Amino acid sequence: MTVRMNYRGFGKITFESSALAFGTARLPGFQSPAGIDKKEAVKLIRFAIDHGVNYVDLGFPWNDRRNEAIVATVRTALADGYRDRVKVALTVPASSIGSPRDFDEYLTGQLKLLGRDEIDFLLLGRLMRDNWPRLRDLGAVPWIDKVIKDGRATHAGFTFHDHYQILKQIVQDYEGWSVVQVQYSFMDIDHDPGTSGIGYASDSGLAVVVAEPLKGGRLTKEPPERVRQVWTEAKRDWSLAEWGLRFVWNHPGVATVVCDMNNMEQLAENLEVAQTAVPDSLTVQEEVLLGRVRDAYRNARQVPCPSCRPCMPCRAGIDVPRFFEVYNDACMYGDIETARAICADEALHPEDCVECRECESRCAKRLPIVEWVKKGRDYLSV
Ligand code: SF4
Ligand code: SF4
Repeated sequence: MTVRMNYRGFGKITFESSALAFGTARLPGFQSPAGIDKKEAVKLIRFAIDHGVNYVDLGFPWNDRRNEAIVATVRTALADGYRDRVKVALTVPASSIGSPRDFDEYLTGQLKLLGRDEIDFLLLGRLMRDNWPRLRDLGAVPWIDKVIKDGRATHAGFTFHDHYQILKQIVQDYEGWSVVQVQYSFMDIDHDPGTSGIGYASDSGLAVVVAEPLKGGRLTKEPPERVRQVWTEAKRDWSLAEWGLRFVWNHPGVATVVCDMNNMEQLAENLEVAQTAVPDSLTVQEEVLLGRVRDAYRNARQVPCPSCRPCMPCRAGIDVPRFFEVYNDACMYGDIETARAICADEALHPEDCVECRECESRCAKRLPIVEWVKKGRDYLSV
């Protein structure tokens, strides 16, 4: 296979990233009881690098055992000179930081697993309004300065899932950020942080790394009938994956797109599309069609919650807006399994609700939150 990879500017850093980045969250065998098929995974990662991919994301460490298996696999894949051909991003999750010394402890553990003394991109994840003030008070900024100074990381950034205004605040709080990683797809144009958030970050000199461009595979599953009807009007013979990826690469502010690839067929298709998907290449008609697909999906949303978050915090530790987002996604995409997996990974535990209704008294839309939490729980059986 011959590939002429597209490379894109990477914010203020002197580096051009491949349009396609390798994500490690769904390596071959990731769902099997036996775990990751290391041989196949190494083959896949090396094939990507041999065909121009130069950015590998170790992913968000939701689960310690899975994270260790992923890092060990990447370590093997990057032996034999492959490490020098790629940049690697490692995430320190906000939830693992409870005291100032946790920053160093976590990073040291991850570097040890990777068998390295340094990482190219150190990302703090997943920053949002509920955790950034805490991390900042624990000394996140001087710690990042120190890590860059002593060479354990070359550049710093953060993964982010919140509103545009919060993104602005975090960007303005520290001038040393080089990268921000966000989730973005044609379904996410107006939230967390949406198209304008990406524009703001790239205008501020940050490299924007997009994750979940196909919403964890939900945009490539057989769509519900109302959505399928809209797709029949497409004038292009593109697969659902190609439509989704082309939308994200169409944004000139996007530096690279992390795809969590599982097999050679997916990788080959993504490499193929990455060759020709350049910024501003979608026509108005194609964008209108994607807008109509978006509306058709959204018609099945249940909870009219815009994730504005005055309801938080919850005394039982439930991230109410996030749970509603996951519930709405399950209804829109007809995918309960993925929603359950997210609930487990992100420890959303809606079953802990004690019905105190404090959140309802603060809700900007006066939503009957307790009722919706119950309905969501029943629908997902969690
Ligand atoms: S009613 Fe439930 S969700 Fe709302 S604050 Fe109380 S425990 Fe949290
Ligand atoms: S305040 Fe209400 S509308 Fe806003 S995020 Fe919370 S539940 Fe949703």
